[in-house]
Amino acid sequence: MVRVTLRPKRDYSVRRHHPWIFSGAIAGEVAAQPGEVVEIVSAEGETLGHGWYSPASQIRVRMLSYASEVIPDAAFITALVERAVARRNGLLVSGATNAVRVVNAENDGLPGVVADAYAGYVVCQLTSAGAERWKVEIAAALMKAVPDCRGVSARADVEVRTKEGLATEPAFEVLGGEEPPELIEIAEGPCKFMVDVRKGHKTGFYLDQREARAAVGALAKDAEVLNCFCYTGGFGLYAVAGGAKSVTQVDLSGEALALARKNAALSFADKQERLEYVEADVFQYLRKCRDAGRKFDLIVLDPPKFASVKSQVMKAARGYKDINLLAMKLLKPQGTLATFSCSGAMTGELFDRVLSEAAEDAHRDFQVIVRTRQGADHPALLNFPEGLYLKGVILRSLT
Ligand code: SAH
Repeated sequence: MVRVTLRPKRDYSVRRHHPWIFSGAIAGEVAAQPGEVVEIVSAEGETLGHGWYSPASQIRVRMLSYASEVIPDAAFITALVERAVARRNGLLVSGATNAVRVVNAENDGLPGVVADAYAGYVVCQLTSAGAERWKVEIAAALMKAVPDCRGVSARADVEVRTKEGLATEPAFEVLGGEEPPELIEIAEGPCKFMVDVRKGHKTGFYLDQREARAAVGALAKDAEVLNCFCYTGGFGLYAVAGGAKSVTQVDLSGEALALARKNAALSFADKQERLEYVEADVFQYLRKCRDAGRKFDLIVLDPPKFASVKSQVMKAARGYKDINLLAMKLLKPQGTLATFSCSGAMTGELFDRVLSEAAEDAHRDFQVIVRTRQGADHPALLNFPEGLYLKGVILRSLT
């Protein structure tokens, strides 16, 4: 097996079980193939574990095991998949939903392997050279481990694959079992959704916001709700289920809104008149509401990622402040704002600071009533802060 030797004093993060080794920590040339399992050795010659080699990436090795005697082979990878799926059994078996993230990459010990199960169809995003090289074994393990699994597919149209030197074509590939239908119907809490696993965002649906959707639904009774960046309607449908008087669903994408309409019809045949759909840029739409003097009891702001790297954080902060300030001004007395950031580079502290600056400029005082995180099927390793990317704050105006 190829050995990767670390530079002196660069073994610190591996010893703390942080799963990434950057190119700068590695001494000399390494003659390993993309995705090959390599042995990690300290400058003093001690074996620290094994990982997947990514020659094209700044993240040169992703750790799989930290025990010198354990060699990650097919049986080892299969066991990791089985264990990750077993940890979700509560969710899959409880009946609360049939759509669950079953493997959450590094956080489940499988670097770059994301696998989401939608009513028995598993859709993966494989974003490390190792995940790509081992996809046959990973798919076979998922087929066996996921309860009532009907098929396993992979989406390659993910930007980060290019950083690993991986192809983004074919965009969709069946790795085992059945080809999924064009739209997969899932049930989540009080709602039903159609998921487009080929063209939808991520693997098709924002499973990570499940708990936040429930929190918003619980606060929606009799409310006039504005759901910004609604995608296929998630927060808005939970609000209807929670007894909202009206829900305005806003998104830039006509396709997302078309699916949001379908999902509303599927979820509650009798409450369609409570929903309104607006195809617009949220930044502009919020200003339009301000100019028209329109107000809401509950506003949801769940924008796309504004910052993916640290250098974009300050620009992202201005974007977050802008929409949050606008939304705060549109709240009726005692109104509620559910606001989110899925930018990993934006820390929770910085997000709070942006919100308090926006509140100051809006001349309103707020109390925090709920804080949300990505759901329990999106765990984050304690020693891998990069894994915790989604933050939500639900604020209530005191005036
Ligand atoms: N809240 C959703 C997920 C939101 S994803 C859920 O729970 O499922 C972000 C959405 O914002 C996408 O649907 C994208 O089309 C939309 N979007 C991005 N920029 C936008 C803008 N400037 N105005 C309106 N919508 C935008």
